[in-house]
Amino acid sequence: MHEFSIAQALADQVLPKVPTGARVREVEVRIGMLRGIEQEAMTMSWQAVTFDTPLAGAALAMDVVPWTISCGECGREWTSAAPFAECECGNATPTPTGSDELDLVSMTVEEGEPE
Ligand SMILES: [Zn+2]
Repeated sequence: MHEFSIAQALADQVLPKVPTGARVREVEVRIGMLRGIEQEAMTMSWQAVTFDTPLAGAALAMDVVPWTISCGECGREWTSAAPFAECECGNATPTPTGSDELDLVSMTVEEGEPE
């Protein structure tokens, strides 16, 4: 599963940043559309790769970066959740540009002893 390797890469990115003895409540990431992530599969993979690590039980919040659509006819540019859209000017084939970013946005840590 494609999401599994992405979740693994994310966990590798986040784990060194977890303070010793801390429990992580939530990890927020920004993911570009070009990554083609299925959020449900991603959540399952995240739970699988973080099991038995200091990230176990941490929620994964996914902030998906939408497509940027630009119209070659009128020069308009906008963002959309879908890569196919029609421009207001009537151009049926504006160009979608997706991002492939995968960035850690924030990590919410709960200090204290694990129970
Ligand atoms: Zn247009």
